[in-house]
Amino acid sequence: MSKFWSPVVATLKPYVAGEQPRIANLVKLNTNENPYGPSPKAIAAMQAAVADSLKLYPDPSALHLREAIAKTYGVAPDEVFVGNGSDEVLAHAFAALLKHDRPLLYPDITYSFYPTYCGLFGIEAVEVPLRDDYTIDVADYRRDCGAIILPNPNAPTGIGLPLSAIEAIVAEHPDQPVVIDEAYIDFGGESAIPLTRKYDNLLVVHTLSKSRSLAGLRVGYAVGQRPLIDALERVKDSFNSYPLDRVAQAGATAAIEDVAWFDETRRKVMESRERVTGALRQRGFEVLPSQANFVFARHPGHSGADLAKALRERAVLVRHFAKPRISDFLRITIGTPEECDRLIAALEEIV
Ligand code: PMP
Repeated sequence: MSKFWSPVVATLKPYVAGEQPRIANLVKLNTNENPYGPSPKAIAAMQAAVADSLKLYPDPSALHLREAIAKTYGVAPDEVFVGNGSDEVLAHAFAALLKHDRPLLYPDITYSFYPTYCGLFGIEAVEVPLRDDYTIDVADYRRDCGAIILPNPNAPTGIGLPLSAIEAIVAEHPDQPVVIDEAYIDFGGESAIPLTRKYDNLLVVHTLSKSRSLAGLRVGYAVGQRPLIDALERVKDSFNSYPLDRVAQAGATAAIEDVAWFDETRRKVMESRERVTGALRQRGFEVLPSQANFVFARHPGHSGADLAKALRERAVLVRHFAKPRISDFLRITIGTPEECDRLIAALEEIV
C-alpha cells in the first residue's frame, strides 16, 4: 500500500503466472507450453524479419496475419482481431464489451485471469459453480447477466463442452456478448468459430501459445462479427495502435499457414495425453477427461501439495492450485514422450 496508489490499485489482486525457473535438467510441465516448438517455417520467417525490417514500424493493421487467420476459418479479415497473446485480447474484450451495470458470468473454477480483469475494469462477476464432476451445467447460464465468458475446454479441468452446449448459451443471450476462450481447442475440441456466422453476440478467442507452440512470441486473436471486432479495435487504438511487432506478425503468419506442422504436433500431444492418462489411472489417480494439452488429476492417498513437492524434488515441475475444491489436483502439461516417461517414473517412486 502506498499513498500514490488509487483505491482501485489498492484492491487489485494481480494474476500470478506459473513459474519459469532455471533448474538444470528440469521437466517443465507447469505452464501448458507445447514441447515441440514452432513451425520451422515460422522460425525462418522471424529470422528474416529480424534481418531485414526492424528499422521500420510494423503494419498497424497486421493485415497479412489477419488474412491468414481469416482464410483458415473462412471469415473476412475484418472479422479478425489480433493482440499480444490471448491475455491481451481478453483484456480488451473485458474493457470493451462487458456491461458494467449487470454481472459477468463465468465458471467457478476457471482461468484465474478473469477475476483479475473484473477487478481492473470494475466489473461485477457472478461465479457459477461447476457440477460435482467438475463439468459446466449449461442450464446455470440461463439467467440475467451483462455478459458471459467461458473457456472451452475449461481450465484447469481440461473438460470440453460440445458445440451444441456453446450454441445453447449463445442463443439464450442474443443481447449480451458471449466470449468463448478457446486457448486449448485444437487438442480435440470443436471450435465455435463457425457459429460467429450466425450469432453477432459471439466472440471466439484463440492463442498461438499452445497448439502453435509460440508462447514466447505473445500472439492471440479473436474472431467475431464486425461490431464486436470494432469495439476491440477502439480499445486497442486508445491503448497501443501497433498490436504486434514485426517479428511477431511474420512468425505468427507463417505458423498459421503451416498446417502440416500444426496437425503433426498437436496429434503427438493428444497421443501422449492418452498415454499419460492411462499411466496415471493405473497408479490410482483420478484423471478428468481432458481435451487440452494437460491433464488434471488427483490421488486418493496423497495431497496435491505433497505430490507437487515430491515431483519437484525429482526435477519434475507441475502446477498445483491452492484453491478450495481443487487443492488435491495437479495440472500436468503434456510434454515430449521422454518428458512423460520421466513424469511417470517419478510418480512410480512417489505413489
Ligand atoms: N486462456 C486460457 C484459458 C489460458 O489457460 C491461457 C494461458 N495461460 C490464456 C488464455 C492466455 O494465453 P496467452 O496469453 O499465452 O495467449
